[in-house]
Amino acid sequence: MALIVQKYGGTSVGSPERIQNVAKRVARWHGQGHQVVVVVSAMSGETNRLIALAKQLQDQPDPRELDVVISTGEQVTIGLLAMALKEVGLKARSYTGSQVRIVTDSAFTKARILKIDEQLLRADLDEGTVVVVAGFQGVDESGNITTLGRGGSDTTGVALAAALKADECQIYTDVDGVYTTDPRIVPEARRLSSITFEEMLELASLGSKVLQTRSVEFAGKYKVRLRVLSSFEDEGEGTLITFEEDRKMEQAIISGIAFSRDEAKITILGVPDRPGIAYQILGPVGDANVDVDMIVQNVGHDGLTDFSFTVHRNDYQKTLKTLEPVIKHIQARGIVSGDKIAKVSVVGVGMRSHAGIASTAFRTLAEEGINIEMISTSEIKISIVIDEKYTELAVRVLHKAFHLEQPV
Ligand code: ADP
Ligand code: ASP
Ligand code: MG
Repeated sequence: MALIVQKYGGTSVGSPERIQNVAKRVARWHGQGHQVVVVVSAMSGETNRLIALAKQLQDQPDPRELDVVISTGEQVTIGLLAMALKEVGLKARSYTGSQVRIVTDSAFTKARILKIDEQLLRADLDEGTVVVVAGFQGVDESGNITTLGRGGSDTTGVALAAALKADECQIYTDVDGVYTTDPRIVPEARRLSSITFEEMLELASLGSKVLQTRSVEFAGKYKVRLRVLSSFEDEGEGTLITFEEDRKMEQAIISGIAFSRDEAKITILGVPDRPGIAYQILGPVGDANVDVDMIVQNVGHDGLTDFSFTVHRNDYQKTLKTLEPVIKHIQARGIVSGDKIAKVSVVGVGMRSHAGIASTAFRTLAEEGINIEMISTSEIKISIVIDEKYTELAVRVLHKAFHLEQPV
């Protein structure tokens, strides 16, 4: 007998029929003698609908109240799934994040899980009940409802699997695993039967929304066995996230390509080239709670230099506002900025031992006439900022250039 946590995303619980299908799948696992915890998202489109509703009342919705509103989508699906489970003859009970006591910090709309009281769930599981938990939501120490950031139900699933020391956490979604890139953009993309935890973390944090980044971090920290599967197919092994030492198969040099359109770029022109200037610019940006991603500072001329960096598109206006007084203070010449950019990233642990990956990527983009605006690299990834309108083209040609459609 194993303890399995299954997480079903929005499309997988998008209608009463689909919820019934989830119930049947859960019943199969339960029938094989396993204990099952199910985490569900809101029905697809529901969280967006709730956010839009909030924005009709406040341009920038109050974060505490926004969490009260957007956490409701998951409360609906836990109740519905528990009903469907009872209909197929199982004992089932639904719980909100606050009832389970998924305790988070108080960073509304992007809260982090601090602890989970798993005793309650264990008691249910031991008496053969299927436990259905609302994804995406928690409660802070003062009892306020919090949410975990978009896509956060993945993190609820993995965190519960860690707390319960589950044998496996299964993420059921609308694709049958993790692909070499988003199969909606590149139909030739190939499903990976396994991917290393490190690569998955890079892909997720660079924009592959198939798993929320924090869920992968959690899986790494607590060594949760994590698998991505389709909720629309009965067969299939999906993609297993492995820890590198387990990986016996022949290693591909490049595992995948991620992209993100959630970026904005800011360049401060004619910055005095002297010690402390990066701090004078980025200090206030950090104080405004904005994460800076790529940073480029050019060689100075005549005592002046240009300083560029990228931020999340949601933080773009806030960053520009924060910089207004800074530009005056440091007597920079001006600022140019834009949010019509995208970041495309090539990821693979094989890069560590292979040269020439970057030059292949640059040549491929050059051949398509795509201008590279910024580059950043780490041991296992190359990220390139380009004009947003070339995103899909860039992903397609890079996928081809690295032969990702071909099995290793
Ligand atoms: P859910 O609602 O089940 O959480 P998501 O929409 O959050 O589903 O994630 C699944 C989607 O992730 C897929 O439909 C696919 O378009 C997208 N995706 C992006 N990159 C990848 C990738 N490398 N492999 C698989 N799916 C990807
Ligand atoms: N319903 C939430 C969202 O749409 C959480 C999730 O689906 O994982 O972001
Ligand atoms: Mg998701």
